[in-house]
Amino acid sequence: MSDSEKRVVRDNDVVSMEYTLKVDGEVVDSSEGHGPIKYIQGQHNIIPGLEKEIYGMAVGDEKTVEVSPAEGYGEEDPNAFVEVPKSEFPPEIPLEVGTPLQLRDNSGQVFDAYIAEVRDDTVVLNFNHPLAGKTLVFDVKVVGIREATPEEIEHGHVHE
Ligand code: ZN
Repeated sequence: MSDSEKRVVRDNDVVSMEYTLKVDGEVVDSSEGHGPIKYIQGQHNIIPGLEKEIYGMAVGDEKTVEVSPAEGYGEEDPNAFVEVPKSEFPPEIPLEVGTPLQLRDNSGQVFDAYIAEVRDDTVVLNFNHPLAGKTLVFDVKVVGIREATPEEIEHGHVHE
């Protein structure tokens, strides 16, 4: 085995990775079609439950990683649901389950939400991340490893 074959992922490596994300058996995201993601290992560029499983993988290695909600997008916060009268929505917004919305509070901060339920006169908005409370199943394949440059490490992201 050559040295390059033994090269495994460690902190401050730029990792190129193909992935498919499944939730409840359905594919919700995939690198297929737009190429592998590139991120810096150890910089929390990706969710922690996945990142810790990538240590020690070599180019060509594949793995299925199951990530609990706590190590993924968090548990669903039952207080993050808000019921809003339908009359408060502009007519161009489709009042359908799943519609994503951005809301601005009085201080100008923007919050992402999506419609969780449509009732007779109201709509229930969910401010949780859409993947909160979900167990995430990733099929990953490492397709490239290189050391990050000092500048990339300082910035916390890949320059390419
Ligand atoms: Zn930069």
